[in-house]
Amino acid sequence: METRTTTAPQSQAASRPGALPGAARQPRFIFITGGVVSSLGKGLSAAALAACLQGRGFSVRMRKLDPYLNVDPGTMSPVQHGEVYVTDDGAETDLDLGHYERFTGVPCRRGDNVTSGRIYQTVIARERRGDYLGATVQVIPHVTDAIKEFVLADTSGTDFILCEIGGTVGDIEGLPFLEAIRQLGNELGRERSLFIHLTLVPYIASAGEQKTKPTQHSVKELLSVGIQPDILLCRCDRPIPPGARRKIGLFCNLREERVIPAPDVGTIYEVPIEYHLQGLDIEVCKHFGLEAREPDLTRWHDIVERIRKPEGEVSIAIVGKYTSLVDSYKSLAEALTHGGIANRVRVNMQWIDSEIFETPDAIYQLEGVHGILVPGGFGERGTEGKIEAARFAREHSVPYFGICFGMQMAVIEAARHMARLPGAGSSEFGPCKDPVVGLLTEWQRGNLVERRSMGGDLGGSMRLGAYDCYLAEGSLIREIYGTDRISERHRHRYEVNIDYKDRLEQVGLRFAGMSPDGVLPETIELPGHPWYLGVQFHPELKSKPFEPHPLFKSFIRAAIVQSRLV
Ligand code: GLN
Repeated sequence: METRTTTAPQSQAASRPGALPGAARQPRFIFITGGVVSSLGKGLSAAALAACLQGRGFSVRMRKLDPYLNVDPGTMSPVQHGEVYVTDDGAETDLDLGHYERFTGVPCRRGDNVTSGRIYQTVIARERRGDYLGATVQVIPHVTDAIKEFVLADTSGTDFILCEIGGTVGDIEGLPFLEAIRQLGNELGRERSLFIHLTLVPYIASAGEQKTKPTQHSVKELLSVGIQPDILLCRCDRPIPPGARRKIGLFCNLREERVIPAPDVGTIYEVPIEYHLQGLDIEVCKHFGLEAREPDLTRWHDIVERIRKPEGEVSIAIVGKYTSLVDSYKSLAEALTHGGIANRVRVNMQWIDSEIFETPDAIYQLEGVHGILVPGGFGERGTEGKIEAARFAREHSVPYFGICFGMQMAVIEAARHMARLPGAGSSEFGPCKDPVVGLLTEWQRGNLVERRSMGGDLGGSMRLGAYDCYLAEGSLIREIYGTDRISERHRHRYEVNIDYKDRLEQVGLRFAGMSPDGVLPETIELPGHPWYLGVQFHPELKSKPFEPHPLFKSFIRAAIVQSRLV
């Protein structure tokens, strides 16, 4: 079964030992499916495997196929589906793409996430145009062809494409995707494709043993759609005894080494190290007949060491609205952790629902924290509490970090209490006397003008993706970035209203970052305050554990200083 030609590292070997030969470099595809239950961490597993392959000198790209019918997750509630991750090219994508970027450092693109909704939209548009020349349009081949096109598009020059299928085997919506990757497995051949299936081996306390049956059933389900997994990755909370591993192999038609335990670990950044120890990347290389060097996982060892042995700790209050689901602020939580890694401290995150600050005196709960962060958000509910939190931070000299909505709230607070405009608000919540934050229907993107209408669609219509910003001389933000021009990702419909700039600057707020055309305020700060910053963009999306974002690094450093004062 395993007859492989050995590809010795060559061509670009000097810079990337282990890379596949240059000219003939055809990407290999690794398909990752999941079974038994959802939330086993398929995205993380895929990202960790990609990190191991990178450690061996291979180049990787990651993409995700999501079976739900939304065209993209942009209109989904973060408390239902987790955060919406935005790419540089302005796509609103699944949060797993955040894991991909954080583990590989490879920026994802619009084409790296597709949903059933988008596939059907494409197929139906083709049918309306008459592209199918009178054929009856069917799931097989038309929908599956559209899926295959997506998987294969824009992949040349990369050693490995890791492609995760959302959901769990057996889901009705997932069937066309499984069918498409089954066909691809056939077309690409075993030397260019590999199927990994992630399952669960639960420990049943009453029986006092781990159970293999759910994994067997899940593989059966996968076999019923024609896919024989090449590797099983078995999530477990304790080591799987050799007997159980052998049994899974026997029932699932795999050699024992291909049944790989994926035990729980202390931090997600330990996963690449653990998977390598368990032999995952070794088996992947064997499958493709690749002789690659041992992976260099130094960066992951260093990160885990810093997380395990912090030299101090700080408490950060995150005052938001979607606090009931941890995944709704996924990138933010990770970026704060990265800020801690950079400063060798543990960051204790206190997730606070801003509505509680609408009760008199509740704001004093913030007294002991070392930093206050108001993250992105939508809609009026809870805003007065966020404004109170910004005010508390300003008046009590507590480091304040306002991200997107958090910056808008800080501007409203400054307008009301510093510039004495009690009617200041955002037009997002309806008409107000002083709309210091207002709807934007036209803006500049490079040399292009983007336009939106008041009553237009909600999906995909915000100011999305990377935009440049100039940072003023002598500002805190310029000092933090160490440069005068930055590019960060956006996702918002409203903007701080430039008409109020002079008035707010007169009372001490500084508009230090502006769009290149000087029309859109991108960052605000408060000279004289130890650390008070608002940014219209989402810096958390670009932070990596091995490259913590400068703003989070600096915010946590300010929190450390604050912790010595309180
Ligand atoms: N609701 C605000 C807007 O649309 C802020 C969005 C956000 O925080 N991402 O402008």
